[in-house]
Amino acid sequence: MSGTTLLEGRCLCGAVTVRIAPPEPHVEACHCDMCRRWGGGPFLSLKLVTDPLFTGEEQIARYASSDWAERGFCKTCGTHLFYFFKPKQGYSFTAGLFEGTGSFAFVEEIFVDEKPPYYDFAGERERLTGAELLAKFNEEDD
Ligand SMILES: [Zn+2]
Ligand SMILES: [Zn+2]
Repeated sequence: MSGTTLLEGRCLCGAVTVRIAPPEPHVEACHCDMCRRWGGGPFLSLKLVTDPLFTGEEQIARYASSDWAERGFCKTCGTHLFYFFKPKQGYSFTAGLFEGTGSFAFVEEIFVDEKPPYYDFAGERERLTGAELLAKFNEEDD
């Protein structure tokens, strides 16, 4: 694993555990309609990792939420575990699974154009609309 901080996470019932080393100590939020439908609120996640170590992997249900992504959850307790981004074969894990994230920085909010007005996160950080995020991805590919 490539990151510096080793994190241990688990679902509510403990059937699934995961160990990751995030590349940066960062948390990001997605406000898109799908994330909010899935979780009831914004999706708070860690940076993409490609090499998680699971236990209880057979207890994970994967829902294909689009052609390019899957969302994983525990079959027993329903805990939302990750967003899996197929083009990069990478997992964005929900921040709430893990102990040891107390010093992490909240660095980015995406799909702010789909955020409903009834909540806001305090503080200053990068905030991107869906279109701005897409433009950023396309720049990275060049
Ligand atoms: Zn569980
Ligand atoms: Zn989203």
